[in-house]
Amino acid sequence: MNLVRRLLLLAAVLPALTAQAQAVPDIVLKPIQVSPHVYYFQGEAGMASQANQGFMSNAGFVVTPAGVVVYDALATPALGAAMLRAIRLVTSAPLKMVIVGHYHADHFYGLQALRQPGVVIAAHRNGRDYLRSDLARERLAQRRAELAPWVDERTELVSADRWLDFADGQPWRFELGGLHFRVIDSSGAHSPEDLLMLVEEDHVLFAGDLFFSGRLPYVGDADSKRWLQALDRMLDAQPAVVIPGHGPASRAPREDMLLTQRYLRYLREQMGNAVQELLSFDEAYARTDWSAFKDYPAFSQANRLNAYGTYLLMEKETLQTGKESK
Ligand SMILES: [Zn+2]
Repeated sequence: MNLVRRLLLLAAVLPALTAQAQAVPDIVLKPIQVSPHVYYFQGEAGMASQANQGFMSNAGFVVTPAGVVVYDALATPALGAAMLRAIRLVTSAPLKMVIVGHYHADHFYGLQALRQPGVVIAAHRNGRDYLRSDLARERLAQRRAELAPWVDERTELVSADRWLDFADGQPWRFELGGLHFRVIDSSGAHSPEDLLMLVEEDHVLFAGDLFFSGRLPYVGDADSKRWLQALDRMLDAQPAVVIPGHGPASRAPREDMLLTQRYLRYLREQMGNAVQELLSFDEAYARTDWSAFKDYPAFSQANRLNAYGTYLLMEKETLQTGKESK
């Protein structure tokens, strides 16, 4: 191609590029401060959509004199970049560490904007298997279709720099700028790679999708047995504030955790008995007394599905115990 044709082509393409850049203005995020060092971004209610630009999950950051630690990265690279801009308005301390709470699309697609020299991205080692899976690629294709231009061909699945191994059963502890962090393994509860992060001095816990404030949880295909173990660890940490993966932070987290604990135990007990008695799910659901939970928010949207997921899980657990005892 000769120079004139190249210039003509460039002249034709440039206005289009500029128009596209103008059509996608920078997203502005406002951090909410919950303690001396901890802030979070609270996503809008509902599913990821064009209207909310994918901003329907939470992420947060901790400011220390030596640098910033981020927990989760929101649902798109543009949101990750918006987080960085918002952090810059609070502190000039460099970003040092990003903890990936789990590899669900709404919590980590923003990593691309946070990946920079000097920043360590740390995640549970099980996340490696997810990133190599067909599921991860299918999810990305689905998101590109649903959330363009916020998720598009340039969006990548970002690997961690450090894969955390919890073989010894102990949390991973680190210190930055005089603050102490505890990263707690809760893998297998909501996803294969759940991590909680406690900021010890501020008594703030980042709990990802294992914590619901003032409402019944969404159980989905979570493993409630492991979730109950995770709740024990969360209660042991005695946080004053818990930041969930969705919805507002809680300043009465103990009550929230006890509600989730009571509810999960009840689901397991009721559905477990039904499975033992070989009742169908419909019979089991109709027979169960839901009065202790029916007035909590999210009951009508979530309870039947939660019960069904638990029924299937209890069937699986029963089959496994049957196999083990043979
Ligand atoms: Zn999730």
